[in-house]
Amino acid sequence: MYSLNSEIKDIDGIIRIKIDIPFDVKFVCIYIFDVNGQKFMIDSGFNMLAWKKRFLQALEEINLNLKEIDYCLVTHEHLDHSGLVKYFKRINPNMQIMMHEITDESLHFGSDEDYAEIMEQNALKVAEEVISYGMNKSQIMRLLKGFLVWPKIVRYSKPDRILNDDDELHFKSTTLKIIQTPGHSLGHICVFDTQKKYLFSGDHILSRITPHVGIYHISTLINEKRAPPNILESYLKSLDKILQLNPKLIFPAHQDIIENPHERIIQIQKHHHSRFNEIRKTINTKPLTPFEISKIHFGSDLDDINTYLALNEVLSHLIYLEQQGKVKRIEKHGKTLFCSDCREPLN
Ligand SMILES: [Zn+2]
Repeated sequence: MYSLNSEIKDIDGIIRIKIDIPFDVKFVCIYIFDVNGQKFMIDSGFNMLAWKKRFLQALEEINLNLKEIDYCLVTHEHLDHSGLVKYFKRINPNMQIMMHEITDESLHFGSDEDYAEIMEQNALKVAEEVISYGMNKSQIMRLLKGFLVWPKIVRYSKPDRILNDDDELHFKSTTLKIIQTPGHSLGHICVFDTQKKYLFSGDHILSRITPHVGIYHISTLINEKRAPPNILESYLKSLDKILQLNPKLIFPAHQDIIENPHERIIQIQKHHHSRFNEIRKTINTKPLTPFEISKIHFGSDLDDINTYLALNEVLSHLIYLEQQGKVKRIEKHGKTLFCSDCREPLN
């Protein structure tokens, strides 16, 4: 069994339980705090036996029992955020589970055998598209197998409450506002304590890396109306929404507490704007496939999953630029290429 490190911290009454996960992000944080004598928890951790044990130990250390937790809000459907929701509900049927309806759909579709075939067809569609963007067939086929393991890991529990953008949860002296922040995932939500001006950002804003903004969400694709045309635009708008709230502190699901929210958000926005410029420059004189662009920017010695994530990162920027009329798409010999200045003849 893995040995997982954990750490418990109290930041102005917000308990942060930080536990290792076997991914590049290294650990995930669960936040628990009091709202008028009731316990509110942000996210439900990772569905792995060792992780669950470590989490229960941490609860014991703070003299808390799962049965005493009144609310659990899931920021998005990824496995390190939604993992133990079903277990929590089984141990404590009174716990109120909350999430956005897209997160609910995604977990529901993703865990239901009846949708397995549609999931597989969606995954194949994604594979075809990614191959046209230049990715190597054997690499994407290996990844596909991984994507289709998802239904076996996802645990679904029907939420007690569906949350929408701008919803407010009123407690005596605390109001928690729900901010829908599509980008990292389509149904991603952040939670804002309007009195303290604390933001629980899930994976929308992290302290050191710019969160992944994905084009493909295989389980959400089952509901076709969910596919956004320009996910990076949605992400950047979601950042603006948070900027306007002017949070004092940000509590993200990974990495460090953010003490300078304004500065950090501007940094992330700048990162995307310089990426736009770099990509435009790269394809200024010669049309390239998104995969070729991605190799120029991120190198070619990445493992399968990071190759795919890097390609997604480039694609989200290309689609954004294409919608602004700043780059053009060219179809040639079954491949899709992009260029900034297409006046040059193609050979
Ligand atoms: Zn995460």
